[in-house]
Amino acid sequence: MPPIVRIEPLTTARAVRGPFDYLLPPALAAAGGVGVGSLLAVPFAGRELLGVVVELADATDVPAERLAEPRAVLDPAVPADLVALARWMADEYCSTPARALGLVLPPGAGRAVRPRVRVRTALVAEATEAGRAALAPDADTKLTDRQRAVVARLAADGALPATATGADHGSLRRLADRGLIALERRERRRRPVGAAVGARAADPPRLTDEQRTVLAPVLASLRKPVGESGDGGARRFLLHGVTGSGKTEVYLQAAEAALNAGRGVIVLVPEIALAPQTVARFQARFGDTVAVLHSQLGQGERFDEWNALNRGEARIAVGPRSAVFAPVRNLGLVIVDEEHEPAYKHEGDPRYDARRVAAWRAHQADAVLLSGSATPRPESVHALTRLRLTQRVDGRALPPVDVLDMVDARHPLHPETREALAEVRRANRKAIVLVNRRGWSNFLSCRACGHVWTCPQCDVALVLHRAENAVTCHHCGYRERIPQTCTACGSASVARHGAGTERIEQELIEAIGDPAFPVLRLDADTGTTRGGVQRVLTEFDRAPAGVLVGTQVVAKGHDFPDVTLGVVLDADATLRFPDFRAEERTFSLVAQLAGRAGRGSDDGRVLVQTLSPDAPSIAAAAKHDADGFLRGELQRREALAYPPFASLIRITASAEDLADATNAANALRERIDPPDATVLGPAPLFRLRGRERMQLLIKAPRRRAAVADVARAVDAVARSKAGRAANLSVDVDPQ
Ligand code: ADP
Ligand code: ZN
Ligand code: ZN
Repeated sequence: MPPIVRIEPLTTARAVRGPFDYLLPPALAAAGGVGVGSLLAVPFAGRELLGVVVELADATDVPAERLAEPRAVLDPAVPADLVALARWMADEYCSTPARALGLVLPPGAGRAVRPRVRVRTALVAEATEAGRAALAPDADTKLTDRQRAVVARLAADGALPATATGADHGSLRRLADRGLIALERRERRRRPVGAAVGARAADPPRLTDEQRTVLAPVLASLRKPVGESGDGGARRFLLHGVTGSGKTEVYLQAAEAALNAGRGVIVLVPEIALAPQTVARFQARFGDTVAVLHSQLGQGERFDEWNALNRGEARIAVGPRSAVFAPVRNLGLVIVDEEHEPAYKHEGDPRYDARRVAAWRAHQADAVLLSGSATPRPESVHALTRLRLTQRVDGRALPPVDVLDMVDARHPLHPETREALAEVRRANRKAIVLVNRRGWSNFLSCRACGHVWTCPQCDVALVLHRAENAVTCHHCGYRERIPQTCTACGSASVARHGAGTERIEQELIEAIGDPAFPVLRLDADTGTTRGGVQRVLTEFDRAPAGVLVGTQVVAKGHDFPDVTLGVVLDADATLRFPDFRAEERTFSLVAQLAGRAGRGSDDGRVLVQTLSPDAPSIAAAAKHDADGFLRGELQRREALAYPPFASLIRITASAEDLADATNAANALRERIDPPDATVLGPAPLFRLRGRERMQLLIKAPRRRAAVADVARAVDAVARSKAGRAANLSVDVDPQ
């Protein structure tokens, strides 16, 4: 064991740049087991911090008298491959190793130098051979009926926690003393409520021809031994399949093949609350082999799921973006479901993109990457081997999409939309109405002087929420009472513009709602509580008929067989943002909603209300023309040097004073010079939470070099006078 360990102390300070050398004391060295990934309590800057070993060494430049010694080893360690992943991530996203390592720690380790979660044990009972023999009809062992029932249950079900046997402790102890059952303390995995513990059912269905065709190259890749895959690109697949084409079944069978080859699997879903069906299908197929990781689990549960994976007891990790850090052993397959979802981007530091991290992990482990979507990103189409599923499993066509021009409309619902909704009610069916804004109206203005109500912290319009009798800021949460008179001129004539989910809900209730035809709303206001989203979705699912109105969540991943109408209101709202992904988002929104309509026996129909009926994204979505849309979009991006033809890096300087933000941005502008890149700005961004912001945007064809150049410049400026007055943040691949 080399005596020197290189450690990253887990501090959030940006200025601290490890790793630092420590001397392993003989006691720790002798105990063995300290390696890359070990968690050690280390003295650092006068405190004791948790540190992660990132390298071992035989020698150091630090003079012996200044070498400190770690104090204790904490269990469990971080797997070495995750340490490598974190170090890569720190560079890739201009963050620090400590912050990146913070993402791969065992749950509960955090920055505390003592583990807060422990393995839980439980008393477990199991029938012995003698016990089984005693159950035989001709056995002469004396058993009461209750004792017989307990032993029989254990013989049939295998080991059970003592508390689940139905017998009290004394009775179990007596059976154990007679050698009929074994009682012992074992480690026990805390399972999340609702987890299909031990369930293992659901034989795979016969694949359709298309499913078989797309699965073949994936299986062939999975069969190649580690290290012999050759070109990594051949192992990265994009499953592009219309909604209902059976993508999940392809994931399941690919996962099965990976397990059979002795390899582990990671399955990423955009959001657990919106993917209960996907999670349930993996659990139904693979039982306890599946570990579910997400933030709503208790810490004990999360630790146990992590630990089960780390020890190889569970071999499939399912979860949202952070599950890309799951300690899966011998990783062989990484699945990214609904790969177009923006939720894969993390907004904290490091601002990682789980899709990119997934690709890196797959590459690191020589594993297969399988991303899937009905509306894949142009980036993925460009970079991955595309596999197509063009037919729904049930053989039904996609519903027709009609575009309704709203330029002359006086009411938020087009007459044709109203007629279609009335028809749905007459037929006792269901409709989904998608509005991209929550609240009642989008903004308020004074009819007399034109004053617009804005957030005092953020320079954005305040949104009216009638139920709360307030106008609120959707960025910082600021709120005030609904104004009755203009604060600028005193006029009592206040105009409300635009219609959000709250207002549309009201319009629908007035137009068609009644007790037999409920109107349910789903958005961040109704779905904030734990389980809120699921509650509304279940209610809609159980209702015999009705309307679900809400923001984008209504178009995501659920299967309602009896929805016959999908409506998108203000479909071009997403297009009005100055964002190069606007077209892609709009296309995906319409196409995803089309996937929700007409899943059952009835014919479906989709209506798209818009002010720009000719926008390419809307026209293509109306024709279900994903290929045409992607082709056009890739051409446009190539012409404008947007991803995937260049990487974007955004640097934001923020400060209370505009001058400070501007100075820092200017200082950065002078220092950065990424090779071949275009630098745009500094340009002002709207004020957010009381902070003025300036941004630089870099379009870089050579990503690595540009990221390194930016990191160097940001470090230098952060230490300068101009930099200290502002807060600098770097976002590689901003959304
Ligand atoms: P996607 O993920 O592409 O939207 P799903 O995997 O949810 O599609 O499949 C849609 C429905 O078809 C599901 O109810 C699924 O159980 C079913 N299904 C998938 N493949 C088959 C198959 N080969 N045979 C029969 N039913 C299938
Ligand atoms: Zn006014
Ligand atoms: Zn605000």
